[in-house]
Amino acid sequence: MDCIFCQIRDGQIPSTRVYEDALTLAFMDINPVNEGHLLIISKTHAETIYDMSPPDLAAVSATAKKMAEAIRQALHSEGLNLYQANGAAASQVVPHFHLHLIPRWKGDGKGFDWKLVKGDPERIRVTAEKIRAQVPTERT
Ligand code: AMP
Ligand code: ZN
Repeated sequence: MDCIFCQIRDGQIPSTRVYEDALTLAFMDINPVNEGHLLIISKTHAETIYDMSPPDLAAVSATAKKMAEAIRQALHSEGLNLYQANGAAASQVVPHFHLHLIPRWKGDGKGFDWKLVKGDPERIRVTAEKIRAQVPTERT
């Protein structure tokens, strides 16, 4: 297995770990967008959200809440971005599921650079209908 994040999980390559539990591990990103930028991985190797089990995804989410609180306490950050890429088209570089936590400060000049352009309401409605048709119905 030559997955770099599996190797970090197993301690085969160095990392700066900040938290770990049975299902997840949090460590500092080596190319921080801002001070405090960290990554949370599932310990089970899964490439993207499509490969993740719902319990692993829930565990990453619970760890994100813990880390968000810890980052804010430690760094007095004013905001926080959660970012997570799936697939090359979405700019995923490391093929092991990971969630970025990026602390933000007003006027830090960082952030996603997309322009807000009003969508065609009819097109939005049709697309929503296509997605809604694929959402599994909950059994009670
Ligand atoms: P992406 O797959 O686009 O979400 O980005 C992968 C992230 O992993 C980048 O922010 C890298 O800086 C980070 N990264 C890559 N290798 C390491 C490593 N050995 N330790 C910590 N972070 C890493
Ligand atoms: Zn892996």
